[in-house]
Amino acid sequence: MTNDPIANQCDCGATAGPLGVCVDYYHAILAEEQNDPQMYRWHLPVVCAYLLQHPSRTNQKYLDGQFRQLQLYLDKGLDTLLRVAVRQVARNKHGAGPGYDMAPLAVYEPLPLGGSPGRFRATFCGMPFRDGSFVSDGHAAYGRHIEAIAEATVESWMSVRS
Ligand SMILES: [Zn+2]
Repeated sequence: MTNDPIANQCDCGATAGPLGVCVDYYHAILAEEQNDPQMYRWHLPVVCAYLLQHPSRTNQKYLDGQFRQLQLYLDKGLDTLLRVAVRQVARNKHGAGPGYDMAPLAVYEPLPLGGSPGRFRATFCGMPFRDGSFVSDGHAAYGRHIEAIAEATVESWMSVRS
C-alpha cells in the first residue's frame, strides 16, 4: 500500500482497507459471491449500497429505486426484497420496459435531492476480509455487515434533507 493520502482514501470518504478502496472490495465480493449461492443472496443490497455510497459511478435515474430497495430491505428483510426483485425481473422480461416497478417501493422515502451525503458510518472497505474470504465468519455475520452498510447508507442519505 502506498502512503499517498489521496490513494488511501475512497471517493466516499472512507479510508482504504487492506484490499484497497471500496471498488476493490466490491469487485472481490462480486467475484466471491459468484461461487457461493448463499453469499449471492445479498447481491442486491450490496449493489444498491455500493452505488448509493459512490453515486458518481452510476446512472442517477436508478438511484431513487435503489434507495427505496435498501429501505425495503431494512424494513421487511432480505426475503421480501428478493421476492420484489424477482417480480421486477419478470416484469422487464415481459416488455414493460426498463426501470423499477415502483408499487412495492412507493411507501418509502424518495432519494433526497442535493447530492451525495459524503461520509458513511459503515463502508465496504471497512469490511473484514480474512483467509481470502468475506464469509470466513459465516454467512450470518456477512449478512450483518451488509445490513450495517445498508443502514449507514440510508441514514446518511436521509441526513441530506435535514
Ligand atoms: Zn468508498
